[in-house]
Amino acid sequence: MACEMKKIITGLVDIVFPPGCILCGAFMDEHSHPSFCPHCFSQIHFMQSPQCTCCGLPFLDREGEDHLCGDCITSKQFFSVARSLGKYDSVLLEAIHLFKYRAKLTVGKALGMLMTEHEYRDFTIRDYSLIIPVPLHKRRLKERGFNQSLILARELSIHFSIPLDFSSLKRTIHRKPQTMLKQKERLANVKGAFEVKSAERIKGEKILLVDDVYTTGSTVKECSRMLLRHEADEVAVLTLARTL
Ligand SMILES: [Zn+2]
Ligand SMILES: [Zn+2]
Repeated sequence: MACEMKKIITGLVDIVFPPGCILCGAFMDEHSHPSFCPHCFSQIHFMQSPQCTCCGLPFLDREGEDHLCGDCITSKQFFSVARSLGKYDSVLLEAIHLFKYRAKLTVGKALGMLMTEHEYRDFTIRDYSLIIPVPLHKRRLKERGFNQSLILARELSIHFSIPLDFSSLKRTIHRKPQTMLKQKERLANVKGAFEVKSAERIKGEKILLVDDVYTTGSTVKECSRMLLRHEADEVAVLTLARTL
């Protein structure tokens, strides 16, 4: 009954104050996406084929089939597959900045919902048994007040009814932010930065590792390595955005 009443009140509030686009505030009609106006939605560059069958790297040449990229051919990836919703540019970049650096958690939630709605190439979220967000070091968590990956992971966990585990994998070493480093320095910077706290929770699980942005992949590669070392059956990576 309380739930019904809440729905009626929400409906009335929507009539008096129609919900606007979470990015530009534009008026939305019933045909719009629930969170993004048609203009903002059209500026999200969803990942498209051809892309790397393993790490999801999009190829500049728009022709041809998906295939392995040079990096995935020459070096072993610890994750089985990595996929992203869209390119880290335009509206998606703006939305991630609002969420991450200006603490607009409603934007984060809407982005998480968007991750649940999208169909990924050769990748099904329902195949996984446990969702783990990439952890922040407790010092960074204190500065920011929230872990952006956990907010995204929570939406996926609720939508697909897959358990969420945000305590088994910990970031134990606080180092320079990855954004300040060159590609080669990034892997060295995260090496040994993560620990598995409860190995029994990880063992035999098909893990979906969730992060906000995939840049060189060094963070998710290191997390995957640690999870596999503790006998995870498989680790796949899903990020909201990807740099090219
Ligand atoms: Zn908009
Ligand atoms: Zn690749």
